[in-house]
Amino acid sequence: MAEVSAVLNARLRKNRGGRIGLFLLLALFLLVDLGLGIWEMGGWKAFIATELVVPHQASLWLVLPADVSTYVGAFGMLTGMWWPVLFWGAGVSVFVVVRMLRVRENFLRLRLALAVAGYFAFTAGLSYYAMKGWNFPAVPNPGGTGQPAWTLDTGAAGLVYAVLALLFGRVAYCGWFCPAAAFWGGIGQGFVRYNLDAEKGRRLARVTVPVVIVLFIGTTAFSVLDTFKVLDLRFFGTDPAVFFSGLWWMVIWFILAVFVPFTGSRFFSRFLCPVGAMNGIIGSWGMARLKARDREVCVSCATKDCSGACEMSIVPHLDLASKGYLRSVACVGCGNCLEACPRRNLYYYHFGTWLTEWLRKKKGPPVSAAGPRSG
Ligand code: SF4
Ligand code: SF4
Repeated sequence: MAEVSAVLNARLRKNRGGRIGLFLLLALFLLVDLGLGIWEMGGWKAFIATELVVPHQASLWLVLPADVSTYVGAFGMLTGMWWPVLFWGAGVSVFVVVRMLRVRENFLRLRLALAVAGYFAFTAGLSYYAMKGWNFPAVPNPGGTGQPAWTLDTGAAGLVYAVLALLFGRVAYCGWFCPAAAFWGGIGQGFVRYNLDAEKGRRLARVTVPVVIVLFIGTTAFSVLDTFKVLDLRFFGTDPAVFFSGLWWMVIWFILAVFVPFTGSRFFSRFLCPVGAMNGIIGSWGMARLKARDREVCVSCATKDCSGACEMSIVPHLDLASKGYLRSVACVGCGNCLEACPRRNLYYYHFGTWLTEWLRKKKGPPVSAAGPRSG
């Protein structure tokens, strides 16, 4: 399967028609996804009655003029339901598992395994718990469960993610738990070649990332004020954080997933994800980084393959050659660069590596067969 996708991707690079075909295939996937959601709700009549009509206490013919939050909520309800979530997960996980079995770097293999496990435990788990009517407080973004926007649970979840980011870097969220890690961990690699190049990407991110962080923090702040009745602020009749969260992760995320043959891999993570960006900022204060085993090897490297493989279009070889390490708010710890380096000169340093090195030092050097020398 990996060979098939490699050949397919090599052809697609030159083939605009192929990219359009892939786009249509992904659009079909999304339609099946929505259809499964409608089926799970008991059919389209039940869906319209529950999601579109009842919230407005109106009759069916008044559905069209319904407000934005109704459509956002209805679309998000479908993409977040148990069967559609399982459908996407099962489809993408096949490619992730195939890739996992083929890569040589243990860090990447483990990262891919965690991405699949994270998808089923976290993304599918959340929709399962929501289906059961339980409040599952694992989402670090207020409004992420579509429940009342601000709870201590959500704040605690945010703190846990911040600590994980300090210990392991942005990979803890973007590479293990986020559904994007499973989505683009397998066949999504083939789309890296369509990414906006590093310089243009940097310029775009400079505009979009601060805007989405302000939107995220602003809607959260409004949500808190609303919850504590300091301000009565609603976005289209909905709590501000619930509206933002639904629009961002349940609508825009899925729509952009269909456009990946044109936007490249991880477009949302690069330019539009406030949670990823904030984890990246917090992670850059912590201990995680990419390290060259030998900086001189990077200085004299002829291929610089690490940079061509990056999901986020970072150019690691520049920092590796000048400083011997890379610490970037954009690095999602995907491990592609480790795998691509022909000299195997890279490793991802984090709390686990630090702990292993510390334990090794504590244990002391291995005793030689001849035994320790005496005075
Ligand atoms: S990490 Fe590997 S591919 Fe990248 S510059 Fe260094 S030696 Fe070259
Ligand atoms: S620098 Fe390496 S680990 Fe970080 S996002 Fe790029 S390819 Fe992935």
